[in-house]
Amino acid sequence: MISGVLAMQGAFHKHKLVMESLGCKTLEVRTIDELLSVDCLIIPGGESTVMVKLLSENNMMDPLKSRILDGMPVFGTCAGMILMSREISRMNQDSLGVMDIMVERNAYGRQLESFETEFEVSGIPGEPFHGIFIRAPKIVSTGRMVQVLAELDSVPVLVRQGNMLASSFHPELSGDSRIHQFFASMVK
Ligand code: GLN
Repeated sequence: MISGVLAMQGAFHKHKLVMESLGCKTLEVRTIDELLSVDCLIIPGGESTVMVKLLSENNMMDPLKSRILDGMPVFGTCAGMILMSREISRMNQDSLGVMDIMVERNAYGRQLESFETEFEVSGIPGEPFHGIFIRAPKIVSTGRMVQVLAELDSVPVLVRQGNMLASSFHPELSGDSRIHQFFASMVK
């Protein structure tokens, strides 16, 4: 299987290394052809406005949306999750709109703009996961089909809807590949 990592902008390199450490082939995705040749895709953290702009300029918004709606497993982390969300609270910003979550950008507040903490992840046994949040988006509501896999103070931070997985935090920075492994297991 080839795991794609969207590489228009942002923190894609570490995701690539984690997937490779799990024995997956990886491909940095910057074109429609590359998008069509991967079996799954990670949309990394970064700056969601810039990612949307670059995807639009490369005519990749619709092809990416179609692949996700056709069932390609996709994992959006931080800005990647913002891109996947149905609605971005209080902002007039474009997204793919594929996942039934509403998010608020940079919503963990000034003091806590970036922080690290631990939480349990349902379906992933063992130690709690160490989450690194960097100017993270907050999930403010989830639709009926969305399964909450981890939460922090009753706010979801890792969610799944069928072929889509999304996190507020940066799982590639924790030195713990269990969430990537979970994602790999979603790829048939
Ligand atoms: N604050 C960024 C945004 O709104 C997301 C930050 C991140 O991906 N680490 O796009």
